[in-house]
Amino acid sequence: MELTGENFIGNTRSADGSVIFQAVNPATGEDLQPSYVEATGDEVDQAFRKAEEAFKVYRQKSGTRRAELLEAIADEIEALGDQLIRRCSRETGLTEGHLNGERGRTVGQLRLFGKVIREGSWVDARIDTSKEGPDIRSMKMALGPVGIFGASNFPLAFSVAGGDTASALAAGCTIVVKAHPAHPGTCEMVGGAIRKAVEETGMPDGTFSMVQGTSHEVGQAMVEHPLAKAIGFTGSFKGGKALYDAATRRPEPIPVYAEMGSTNPMFLLPGALKEQGEELAEGLVNSVNLGVGQFCTNPGLVAYQDSDEARAFQQKVSEHFKKASAGTMLTAGIQSAYKQGLEKLLQQEGVRLVADGKDNGSATPGVPHLLNVSSKDFLANRFLEEEVFGPSTLTITAGGKQDLVAIAENLQGHLTATLYGTEQDLEEYSELVRVLQRKVGRLIFNGFPTGVQVNHAMVHGGPFPATTDARATSVGTLAIERFVRPVCFQGFPEEQLPDELKADNPLGIGRLVNWERTK
Ligand code: NAP
Repeated sequence: MELTGENFIGNTRSADGSVIFQAVNPATGEDLQPSYVEATGDEVDQAFRKAEEAFKVYRQKSGTRRAELLEAIADEIEALGDQLIRRCSRETGLTEGHLNGERGRTVGQLRLFGKVIREGSWVDARIDTSKEGPDIRSMKMALGPVGIFGASNFPLAFSVAGGDTASALAAGCTIVVKAHPAHPGTCEMVGGAIRKAVEETGMPDGTFSMVQGTSHEVGQAMVEHPLAKAIGFTGSFKGGKALYDAATRRPEPIPVYAEMGSTNPMFLLPGALKEQGEELAEGLVNSVNLGVGQFCTNPGLVAYQDSDEARAFQQKVSEHFKKASAGTMLTAGIQSAYKQGLEKLLQQEGVRLVADGKDNGSATPGVPHLLNVSSKDFLANRFLEEEVFGPSTLTITAGGKQDLVAIAENLQGHLTATLYGTEQDLEEYSELVRVLQRKVGRLIFNGFPTGVQVNHAMVHGGPFPATTDARATSVGTLAIERFVRPVCFQGFPEEQLPDELKADNPLGIGRLVNWERTK
């Protein structure tokens, strides 16, 4: 597929702007062809107008028809073959092996959402005719055109055809995606695949648009556009919060589902250090360095009580970190933020460097770093909880059980918290579990937080500042809930009701009918 550097305004290619930029190979620092043209305000406006027109048609398509679109997108992405993986690797520094896995995840989640909407029960149809009075029926319906921001760290699975796109299209929303400026060519290829799928499946022009951009103006214009009904975002706290604030300032505020920073605290309980210290040390180093530490679920804080086993564990982790090699980080900006973040951490009272890994000679090396602080110093300094995006982790040596509980109580919102221990530990530290339930979206027992399964039960979200809406998840089939709202039909004649709410249940979906779950 030949790249042209243009924007997709529905099915039309467009390049009206004057701001030109190029992708950069982060490993070498070289510019990559072609040049991209940032979308103008007018192009963003056209994209949303088309999305609104398309929404009127697309929202009426059956679950089966929308599933066909999602499946066609998955097929078209696979049809891009190795060309997609090679371009993506050059733009992101991520290895082809990693990206092959990520592509599998991307097409897998598109097909999973396809299955969900073919089955149809997700609309949560409720029928109440049990009381005297009007007949009342409700179901979830799509919000309207949605603005989606591609993320830098998962250029396939959280970008143009990522989880936000899959869940919004599944819900029946039309979308305008902002490509991520760190991998515009990958975005263009995947955007082209979606466009093809839209055409093949006979969906209306404007179901999908994609705008390129390298300045904040494009994103701001998307959030401020009067036709936008929701925003999906994954990225920095600064970016997510700025977009959230912009959305609340609109004459008509809209929900912003921003997944931002998280340090994913781990608590290693005494039994774990005693029984599995060696495996834990190796597992931790691997988890911290996965994707050069650029995973949202990267374990950035690891707390444990001081003991002989704890010191032996720290020693083991330190040996592994010294042997670990740097990887290429996604962008020069992300690498310099990582370096500055580490420098700032090391200037904080009581923080010391335990070990660092080897440089790899790349233009943007993410060198693994292991740091340590006491629980006393940690508790006195809020900054230590902030995400340093990259392959580093801060271990916290605590005095006793109450120190671990105090650390947990002082935490802000995170995506995950992990407990390693025996079942007896878990019982003894049940207070810790109770406290952590209020702090995170996912609690893990005896497993590392990196590696997020895409299924019906997954929650990839959490209280602020991990996200701007603790009620939502951006991974798993529940993610569809972000892009719908409940709509109630009162006293309607049977023929005028949506199929999901008709008396004889023609779609055969699971429903709540007068207190009873039926199918
Ligand atoms: P980012 O700066 O948050 O950018 C993400 C997207 O939002 C880009 O398309 C960016 O476009 C746009 N954007 C950012 N700020 C905006 C604003 N104020 N107004 C309008 N649009 C805005 O994230 P990034 O470039 O991917 O990486 C930078 C940092 O984000 C990293 O160092 C890391 O700390 C963090 N990050 C965290 C996660 C996570 O999973 N928690 C994932 C990725 C990145 P423009 O640049 O064109 O404005």
